[in-house]
Amino acid sequence: MTTQSPYWNPRHETMGRDELEALQVRKLGNLLSWADAQVPYHSRRLRSAGVTPDSISSLDGLKRIPFMTRDEWMQGQMGHPPYGPILAAPQDAAIRYHLTSGTTGKAPIRVLDSMKDWEWIAEMWCYGFWGFGVRPADRVFFAFSYGTFVGFWGAHYACEKIGCLVLPGGNMTTEQRVNQILDMKATVVCSTPTYALRMAQEARLMGIDLAGGPVERVILSGEPAGSIPATKKLIEEQWGAKAGDTAGMTELGTIMMFECDHQPGGAHIIEDHYIEEVIDPDSGEAVGYGEPGERVVTSFGRGFIPVIRYRTRDLVLKVPGSNCACGRTFDIYDGGIRGRVDDMKLVRGTNVYPRAVEAIVREYEAIDEFQIHLYTADGIRDEIEVLVEIPDASVEAEPLCNDLAKTLADAHEGLRFGVKKVADETLPRFELKAKRVLDEREVVGGRGERKQA
Ligand SMILES: [Zn+2]
Repeated sequence: MTTQSPYWNPRHETMGRDELEALQVRKLGNLLSWADAQVPYHSRRLRSAGVTPDSISSLDGLKRIPFMTRDEWMQGQMGHPPYGPILAAPQDAAIRYHLTSGTTGKAPIRVLDSMKDWEWIAEMWCYGFWGFGVRPADRVFFAFSYGTFVGFWGAHYACEKIGCLVLPGGNMTTEQRVNQILDMKATVVCSTPTYALRMAQEARLMGIDLAGGPVERVILSGEPAGSIPATKKLIEEQWGAKAGDTAGMTELGTIMMFECDHQPGGAHIIEDHYIEEVIDPDSGEAVGYGEPGERVVTSFGRGFIPVIRYRTRDLVLKVPGSNCACGRTFDIYDGGIRGRVDDMKLVRGTNVYPRAVEAIVREYEAIDEFQIHLYTADGIRDEIEVLVEIPDASVEAEPLCNDLAKTLADAHEGLRFGVKKVADETLPRFELKAKRVLDEREVVGGRGERKQA
């Protein structure tokens, strides 16, 4: 690697698709042999599907391997606490413990990592940071709490590996973080999309215009909003910086995709370290380029826990790497993670995706924060409303709310949305994984078909 290359791993990131596929098949064979030998749980699953490690000679053969779901992972954890029957190494060999963020109210997934895992975790983030233009001279601030949630931990090590100056921002108030970014002249800030906007709001209250500050790049992770164009545009305007998306998951410990500095409207999949399939979430059948579906991940890098055909519930749409002019052959998830399969709300027979609502709300720059509220009216009817904060007193709220309501209805087959202004700073604020949907319906999602008699 030379510092001039735009790629972290020039050979792999630009290799021909045939060569890449051959590499994936070889790594898949190694993964299956190792899981078969080290993890009786996986060995049983493979054997029951009639799969032996040497019986898969193409990517198509992958389809013979059963999917693994989060529910199965959790059942394993409950049956064999605390980690489940999935560890491929003795617990003594671990150097780190972490958890899913647990914002969904479900029990968290607990994982262990080895030293080698952490080298790999950092390496994956290096693809992303380097690809978005981060270089050794950069000073990188992490607006991150450094807790048991894996979050930006790997990115922290990636920046050390690249040779950046790392500025850890744990245990700080938002105001302290804004001050630190300016004092230390951070050139890169890592944050969730929601919290990037939160810091910009706080800076405004402090009388600071971040757009005139030192930050050149904001690297986003943790929420699908990093690839919603209107949200990203807002972050870029408020920070006067380029905003790039990444996405990962606790089950992997790191990212599996990143936006390159050409910003093709999506994120490249790190395909020399993962196989990413897209399936119809109902039938489990593969879908092609350009069709939405659920991503299924197989990871070659995780040393403590083999991840084989894991159903993520993330909604994606894959397009060829050639859609981007950067020269990478790695395929792209257009629009990043488009939400979760389970996110969809059925309201009076119409599908509502929170991401689609956010994409519309973010077009209204006067709105600082919002919440989607679902409730049951008159004991029978589903209603949906969007609560908004409009802190700028010079903005007339009523026409804005009416216009937003109309735009939302137009995008949802005429479904009526209430839009209400609420007092400033009354809606919840988030540092991690914003949860802007409050579903208080008495029978969730079930009333669409049962209109008033
Ligand atoms: Zn690219």
